[in-house]
Amino acid sequence: MKDQFGRNIHYLRLSVTDRCNLRCRYCMPKEGIQKERHDEILSFEEILQLVSLFVKAGIDKIRLTGGEPLVRKKLPNLIEAINRENSIRDFSITTNGILLKHHAKEILDAGISRINISLDTMKASKFREIAQIGDLKDVLEGIATVQTLGFKPIKINTVLIKGVNDDEIEDFINLTRHEDLEVRFIELMPVGGNRGYSRTHFMPNTEVLKRCPDLIPISGTDKSSTASKYLIPGYRGRVGLISPNSHKFCGACNRVRLTADGKMKTCLLSNEEVDLKSALRRNVSVEELIRKNIFLKPGDHHLETGGFVTRNMSAIGG
Ligand code: SAM
Ligand code: SF4
Repeated sequence: MKDQFGRNIHYLRLSVTDRCNLRCRYCMPKEGIQKERHDEILSFEEILQLVSLFVKAGIDKIRLTGGEPLVRKKLPNLIEAINRENSIRDFSITTNGILLKHHAKEILDAGISRINISLDTMKASKFREIAQIGDLKDVLEGIATVQTLGFKPIKINTVLIKGVNDDEIEDFINLTRHEDLEVRFIELMPVGGNRGYSRTHFMPNTEVLKRCPDLIPISGTDKSSTASKYLIPGYRGRVGLISPNSHKFCGACNRVRLTADGKMKTCLLSNEEVDLKSALRRNVSVEELIRKNIFLKPGDHHLETGGFVTRNMSAIGG
């Protein structure tokens, strides 16, 4: 459906857990997070009810996220049920890849073949520096597994962290030489308890173009895509730049979010939330709430004037 600014809102980012098996420095605070109580998290039945209401309001594209979505038990059952009960044109998942080699086949069989895998470095020691726990090897094996199984498209999400991984920009772009992958550089956003880290390590995506002048823009890119797309002639894959700070894309934003604890967010970078879980549990008309708040989605975010979001990214889903 259309919002007050005439944007067609048809994309839901659905967070299925606030828990994670990594502790990325820009996403989770060092001291860890206050985990939601089990009954604060939406059950599969509640998620299915809410998804069907979002679909009635015009959602036809869903991305599963977290926390780390693959730590949610029986996730393939949820994927399968969402697919069975709704007509979803575009169904995808974003994962850190740690558990992927164990679950990729089940996810594919349940009906998701579009995947984004987050990978900020290809160096094992730096992986530990950024993610604080976990092993790079597991992520690389996960990527190899989805390539073998035929997931498509496969996108690699790389958050650009000044002084930490910007020396690997060329290496990441080189991944696209022989592989049919899209490497997407994401600008750090000042979100949650780690906003100080995100501000001091911020590097604009324009730096990618400076370091790699061979990248040429791909014309005809989907206008609602958050990524500007580039390629190097002769390379199999492509490069995307997601630049919420340096190149705001709010005018083309088509998405809303549902957090694992049942809050609807119509803007990633706003503190406004609508408590759909309580409404659902009190039998209030949730359909009306969803439609009203899609219509009222804010026109743009206010990062440039020092605004920030208090929720950690792991509790929103990115
Ligand atoms: N755990 C999964 C993962 O890492 O792919 C899914 C959730 S994670 C919150 C989704 C995406 O948000 C990841 O690609 C992550 O790198 C990105 N992200 C997290 N915090 C961020 C921040 N402060 N600025 C920009 N991107 C961020
Ligand atoms: Fe976990 Fe993803 Fe956040 Fe890293 S970015 S801490 S993997 S939720």
